[in-house]
Amino acid sequence: MDTQFFEHIESEVRTYSRSFPTIFDRAQGAKLWTTDGTEYIDFLAGAGTLNYGHNNPNLKGKLLEYIERDGIVHGLDFWTDAKQDFYRTLEQLILEPRGLDYKIQLPGPTGTNAVEAAIRLARKVTGRHNILSFTNGFHGVTMGALATTGNAKFRNNLGVPAVGAQFMPYDGYMGEGVDTLDYIEKALDDGSSGLDHPAAVIVEVVQGEGGINTASDAWLKRLYDICKQRDILFIADDIQAGCGRTGKFFSFEHAGIKPDMVTNSKSLSGYGLPFAMLMMRRDLDIWQPGQYNGTFRGHNLAMVTAAEALRQYWSDDKFEREVQRKGEIVRERFAQMAEMLNQAGHNASERGRGLMRGLDVDNGDLADRITHGAFERGLVIETSGQAGEVVKCLCPLTITDEELNAGLDMLEASVREVVGS
Ligand SMILES: *Cc1c(COP(=O)(O)O)cnc(C)c1O
Repeated sequence: MDTQFFEHIESEVRTYSRSFPTIFDRAQGAKLWTTDGTEYIDFLAGAGTLNYGHNNPNLKGKLLEYIERDGIVHGLDFWTDAKQDFYRTLEQLILEPRGLDYKIQLPGPTGTNAVEAAIRLARKVTGRHNILSFTNGFHGVTMGALATTGNAKFRNNLGVPAVGAQFMPYDGYMGEGVDTLDYIEKALDDGSSGLDHPAAVIVEVVQGEGGINTASDAWLKRLYDICKQRDILFIADDIQAGCGRTGKFFSFEHAGIKPDMVTNSKSLSGYGLPFAMLMMRRDLDIWQPGQYNGTFRGHNLAMVTAAEALRQYWSDDKFEREVQRKGEIVRERFAQMAEMLNQAGHNASERGRGLMRGLDVDNGDLADRITHGAFERGLVIETSGQAGEVVKCLCPLTITDEELNAGLDMLEASVREVVGS
């Protein structure tokens, strides 16, 4: 396989192709095939972009129909039939049943666009500049979003200072038994803490890139109350944890809170098409016409598949119960693998929610050895966390039990190899 051609032509900035140096060609559901026909099970799924699997047949059918009838593909921010269908379906199946009265902004095709829009709107609404974000948080790599992203790898390459945000300790950052919100609450109320009163906090309920760190419901609820009491907007970044990944459509549903703004992208189109949205409390929508624009605001093909994905999977609670059930399978198997690693003198543990699961092996090299071994056995799986120390399962939510167990078996075989048993 001529992978050297890619090395010749493609920038050194590439990442995932380094972990999986082969040439992929086709994909269906939870499976990928290379140009020479080698089959892989996909536990990466576009970093949580393919919750409904690759080339989901139901969504593909709607997409082909729409293309065949010359449905509008690009329309700037025109009102289109596809957009109407998406908005109506979203309102009926997702927002209304959850008591959420949001307006929608389609800011541009990627997650970081939605984060930029959220931050900018929060500043405009409050007249304040500071955004509180959290240790290990990841919110994208454009300038405003990057300022709220913790990882120095990204921050150090901006070329100008990353300004406009201050970092607070996420739930669990100080270890067991410390409620990091004690510090945050105190700093907010102390005129000498050095904290500029923030416009908003931006938080992931489960930190995807940061290592599958999971905020407890109690912590989130308390953070939410702290914000409410102090006129600070609460932005939930549900770009990776949304669309059912944690076992509910929105990750914050578990905590019973209603964020002021929500960002969504990755699996929103359901088909891997670029699509992002910002949802905002109705009264926060003080944008003037055209104040935030972009050529690709709402990709109609993505809206066609997004609407169909909502109809297919979110008309009742069957799908979310399935995600929770499969999540338990992964949890149990990760706990067993952690135990194997610990028996061999490592320091491993499992964590996560729904089908957003991590096996923390406390060592980036060890995690790499495990994922490389898994790839040799036919499993695509990545690491996350500050040192890449967390093996991360983001398999399609639609994965069959058979494929899920086969993938977990490959991962376990790799863990066994690493511990020499
Ligand atoms: C991926 C991600 C983003 C950025 O989305 P892009 O489409 O890569 O710009 C922002 N926030 C979270 C939580 C993400 O996982």
